[in-house]
Amino acid sequence: TCGICVEKCPFDAIEIINLPQELEDEPTHRYGENAFSLYGLPVPESGKVTGLLGPNGIGKSTAVKILAGEITPNLGRHDDAPDWEEVIDEYRGTELQDYLAAVRDGDVNVARKPQYVDQIPDQFDGTTRELLERTDERGVLDDLVDRLSIRPVIDQSIDSLSGGELQRVALAATLARDADFYFVDELTPYLDIGQRVTAARIVRELAEEEDKAVLVVEHDLAVLDLLADSIHVAYGEPSVYGVVTPPKSVRNGINEYLRGYLDNENMRIRPEAIEFEEHAPRPASREETLVSYPDMAKSYGEGEFSLSVDGGDVHRNEVLGVVGPNGIGKSTFAKLLAGDIEADGVDLDLGMDIAYKPQYVEADQHMRVDAFLSSITDDFGSSYWKTEIGDPLQLDRIMEQNLTDLSGGERQRVAIAATLSKDADLYLLDEPSAHLDVEQRVLATRAIRRFAENRETTVMVIDHDIYMIDLLADRLMVFDGEPAEQGHASTPQEMRSGMNEFLANLDVTFRRDENLGRPRINKPDSQLDKQQKRDGEYYYTN
Ligand code: ADP
Ligand code: ADP
Ligand code: MG
Repeated sequence: TCGICVEKCPFDAIEIINLPQELEDEPTHRYGENAFSLYGLPVPESGKVTGLLGPNGIGKSTAVKILAGEITPNLGRHDDAPDWEEVIDEYRGTELQDYLAAVRDGDVNVARKPQYVDQIPDQFDGTTRELLERTDERGVLDDLVDRLSIRPVIDQSIDSLSGGELQRVALAATLARDADFYFVDELTPYLDIGQRVTAARIVRELAEEEDKAVLVVEHDLAVLDLLADSIHVAYGEPSVYGVVTPPKSVRNGINEYLRGYLDNENMRIRPEAIEFEEHAPRPASREETLVSYPDMAKSYGEGEFSLSVDGGDVHRNEVLGVVGPNGIGKSTFAKLLAGDIEADGVDLDLGMDIAYKPQYVEADQHMRVDAFLSSITDDFGSSYWKTEIGDPLQLDRIMEQNLTDLSGGERQRVAIAATLSKDADLYLLDEPSAHLDVEQRVLATRAIRRFAENRETTVMVIDHDIYMIDLLADRLMVFDGEPAEQGHASTPQEMRSGMNEFLANLDVTFRRDENLGRPRINKPDSQLDKQQKRDGEYYYTN
């Protein structure tokens, strides 16, 4: 090994061309003997949104906590922690010197949105209104509540909110504070595309119009693109060490990160590039029908949400994508198919085995990952299972961990693996991309697609990651309506018409990056946006 990695080298050792200079110096912070170390910090800047892009477990939240004053950096001396003067000395002459001095003096007023919004109900008892009222320091809460569509749940208790609702409430609570520096630790989990674009606009306005400094950690590249003025890339070996680069332009930063090579640092961070395929929409071939479902309706009670479903067919061996805003009935439809709930007046018996990964993955069993997975399939541990499921989902390094100790992204990968390990006629995955980083999304997408092809089986995937859906799906099911009031599911259709219907509802068009083919959201009313809307081509331009 190269001497840094305490575990197996992810780059196969020989791939490392040169070590980052930083690693020869002291780290900014180390959690303990042989524990994770962080090198470098991002630099917040007034009037700007600064992005932080990197894989899970690379120290992004650690960096945010240091800048927020929640962790005092120890320069790697966890036994003999230096005092603030030494830390600041270390940063003398850099842009961070004044910032860190202000943190030391308690002069930095910080508002931070935590990464795992699911944990908010454990920490707060009360209604949305009660939580938000305590944060309204800028007198903008009413406006935020309206723009983020929080009004319908304002008197609901916090522990009854969905993930997407909690995410928007947490964002409103953070942005309503009167701080100098705002830290948003992941903006998009659980949000649909429309909500992501709105949230990005609100964050930009805070920086531009109020001259605030905002630092955002984000895995959704299309949103990072819209949001940030510059970005820092974080690289290294997850759980072992992480290095934060100096700022780069958003476009260069994202492209270098995807290519796996950092230009200014002259540093290879991954043996191969993450490649974006641009492909023409898949033509829906005339396939055999696996199952037909009838027109259905489901309402949750007088005056509550109701869903109407146009009947349709699911083809054998296809991947069917499912898209639509939050609160429109997608998970309800999945539960109808899976037989978890009953449609109104229809006794739906599809007569087949369905493996179902729900949207919110719980992991409350005290069990190791390997024990859990081997309780699901006899194939566990076979070379087939390892190649098709274990390796692409990067489960190797977490096999011995307890389910309850897993991070959000780890839990998601275990849940996808568990679902695909079952023997079933139809596999239903509800939001598999949530909490996964860029690389894990690409790997999970490839694993699901290969699984469907190699096993000649049928998969339905509900997701907000448009690029994942584009790569995965043969056909598309589009939901529309009025979120939390009524939803409508249209019959499965071809990719091109489906994407156009979905994105026209949102009024958003996509183009492709000239270099990497990465999908990018067009600026509203830009030349391309207008042209694509005139042509009625919201996503595919070939
Ligand atoms: P990211 O935000 O990039 O996913 P984090 O900063 O949360 O990464 O974590 C980086 C590494 O530091 C992880 O391996 C994590 O387990 C470890 N870590 C985080 N907090 C602590 C802590 N309080 N003590 C020891 N290790 C920690
Ligand atoms: P999506 O998956 O598209 O986000 P869901 O199917 O989860 O939407 O939910 C659609 C609507 O139905 C939401 O407003 C949600 O709050 C409501 N809902 C979901 N489950 C129940 C339930 N068991 N009782 C009452 N309302 C529910
Ligand atoms: Mg859902």
